[in-house]
Amino acid sequence: MATNIQAIRGMHDVLPDQTPLWQYAERIIRDVLSSYGYSEIRLPIVEKTELFKRSIGEVTDIVEKEMYTFEDRNGDSLTLRPEGTAGCLRACLEHGLLNHQTHRLWYYGTMFRHERPQKGRYRQFIQLGVETYGMSDPDIDAELILLMDRLWKKFGIRDKVRLQLNSLGTIAERLAYREVLVAYFQQHKNSLDEDSHRRLNTNPLRILDSKNPEMKDVVAHAPEFMAYLGIDSLAHFKAITTTLEDLSVVYEINPRLVRGMDYYSKTVFEWITDELGSQGTVCAGGRYDGLIEQLGGKPNHAVGFAMGMERLLALLETREDIPVAKTVDAYMIRVGERAEREGLRFAETIRNEVPALKLQLSVDGGSFKSQFKKADKTGAEFAIILGDDEVDRGEVGIKCLRNGLDQQTMPQNQAISFLQQQL
Ligand code: ATP
Ligand code: MG
Repeated sequence: MATNIQAIRGMHDVLPDQTPLWQYAERIIRDVLSSYGYSEIRLPIVEKTELFKRSIGEVTDIVEKEMYTFEDRNGDSLTLRPEGTAGCLRACLEHGLLNHQTHRLWYYGTMFRHERPQKGRYRQFIQLGVETYGMSDPDIDAELILLMDRLWKKFGIRDKVRLQLNSLGTIAERLAYREVLVAYFQQHKNSLDEDSHRRLNTNPLRILDSKNPEMKDVVAHAPEFMAYLGIDSLAHFKAITTTLEDLSVVYEINPRLVRGMDYYSKTVFEWITDELGSQGTVCAGGRYDGLIEQLGGKPNHAVGFAMGMERLLALLETREDIPVAKTVDAYMIRVGERAEREGLRFAETIRNEVPALKLQLSVDGGSFKSQFKKADKTGAEFAIILGDDEVDRGEVGIKCLRNGLDQQTMPQNQAISFLQQQL
């Protein structure tokens, strides 16, 4: 016998009993984004490998060890996107969207990273990405944070996440800080792990982002970036925190927050939770003005973030009372030859007259009893019942499946008004 083929490790199916929660989350996200005037952009899943190398940075976890890279039949090196920022910016540059314009964009889609799969960390996962272009004012950094703050509240999980902020300054400020940091880590070389040794020469800031618990101490005592920020960077940061305070958005400053990609400057932020074990970052982003030039554009401004949907869903599941819509409101039971024919026709009439009603038709026959069982299993509120007797009289039975009241019999048009009133 042939063996079953299974899904690839770290790549998951979302089964029908889970999709209502996804759809609920997606609906709220769309509504909140449109309430801030953001537009959707849809992007390819595969890009040239070079795009990610140049934007994310050669010495990052993603580019060093997580990308799904392959040669296509022409011999071009292509990569399944590990994140969306690079592709989004590539598209905007390619189509001239950044010439003296501002944009507020979002995308929603699958990303791929070859990581060790564990709860909240997968090889195929979905991100909501939000990117803004052309705006240097700190109000746009703040807007992105406020938008997420609103989303958490709508989801009823604001108390499960904390906002952490930091500033990574300008390139010049980062270079100055880098020297101080390298000197510090060189003094503590014995406490560094292998990755950090390597990064000491290539990308020392990333050592602050180390997930190795043995590195915790040496990282905790490292000099802090804030002391090396210039007046402009400090003012930008202060403007954001002032706005957040004005609007009562609680935040923490985390001087170790550097983020995994090289392209950030000035603002960086993360929304973290204690509910998901070590996969605690649900949403992360910041300002990345410099990336535009790095990808061949004219000097410009960009701020954005990405949220991991699986981690959001895991957080939503910690709520007991999620308002997820039902798949079926009413289930039509048909017993008898005439009832089957008339039932199918009547179901179509109901869908014409009551389009919002989710009506499922019994199609596999069986006794009244077995069809009632199936009706119950769908979670429907109502059974619409047709036997040959009802058909002969032009009537239909309606039974509420949830309150124990008796079945009622009524003419078909009255049944339609009844169903209309139930929505
Ligand atoms: P982490 O520190 O957890 O590895 P990251 O810094 O690599 O995260 P980003 O690249 O900033 O993450 O991606 C933004 C968000 O996307 C993360 O906060 C997380 O919610 C989600 N995410 C990232 N990698 C994965 C993954 N492998 N599986 C599921 N979600 C992920
Ligand atoms: Mg990662």
